[in-house]
Amino acid sequence: MTDRYAVIGNPVAHSQSPFIHSEFALACKQEILYERLFADLGQFNQVVAEFVAAGAKGLNITLPFKSDAFRFADEVTERARAAEAVNTLTFRDGKVYGDNTDGVGLVRDIVENLDYPVTDRRVLILGAGGAVRGVLEPLLREKPATLTIVNRTLVRAEALVNHFAPWGQLEAIAYEQLQGRSFDIIINATSSSLHKELPPIPHGLFSARTLAYDMVYSSGLTPFLQRAQAEHAGMLADGLGMLVEQAAESFAIWRGVQPDTRKVTNMLREILA
Ligand code: NAP
Repeated sequence: MTDRYAVIGNPVAHSQSPFIHSEFALACKQEILYERLFADLGQFNQVVAEFVAAGAKGLNITLPFKSDAFRFADEVTERARAAEAVNTLTFRDGKVYGDNTDGVGLVRDIVENLDYPVTDRRVLILGAGGAVRGVLEPLLREKPATLTIVNRTLVRAEALVNHFAPWGQLEAIAYEQLQGRSFDIIINATSSSLHKELPPIPHGLFSARTLAYDMVYSSGLTPFLQRAQAEHAGMLADGLGMLVEQAAESFAIWRGVQPDTRKVTNMLREILA
């Protein structure tokens, strides 16, 4: 019987995961079936249990169920434990294993695809939501010179700093405190780009040394990347590479083969254009 996988979310119709995993499977000569699973709020455990009973081998988890998946797992990896969120479940020998591949996806996109080291660099992250929680442990693992979180609601950033203190040094600041500071890597992990808004960053934040990275991907430049371009940032990138890299890590966990990501990223770029 063909091994079954799926992405579960609410909503889930927009997810590119079935396309990405089907392309990985083709390229790696793996026979899998990858579907979309919709779950009503509060129905996560039931929908997953039915999928497992039907013989499923694994599941990707998207909004808003990453915390439910964390609680559903019998065992989790260190990075999932740090994030308290799971985006990859594996069902094996009657047990449920949880992992979080979002952070490694971001780090691989920056370090390998964009060829921009995180180690010894000053990193700024805008936002303090679920996306940030998922990437902090893998970012800290790279040993940046500094890691700063800025958020409109400062207490959320401070809570993340307290939570992640065992994994490394980081600081929380308010947007007003960005004035006069400079960074090598600036990651927009807010949802502002989805609403075509710009986070309240001061002018002059970017320089020719800066990598400006927006976790949101879109056909044109987001307001954040437009500002970075206007201030002559050294490099601009959106989150499409991260999306494909986190999927590749899930695929490798399930199938034991690391798929090539470049071709799939290019294909998606054309589809989304
Ligand atoms: P979330 O939990 O809802 O958090 C949203 C964050 O954005 C909060 O920190 C919020 O600040 C901030 N924010 C929203 N609008 C803002 C604005 N106009 N100015 C400044 N800050 C603003 O969302 P999330 O799950 O962390 O996701 C964040 C983004 O990352 C989403 O757009 C998602 O699409 C993207 N993402 C991409 C990938 C990928 O693979 N490329 C993976 C995961 C997430 P307050 O706390 O002050 O409200």
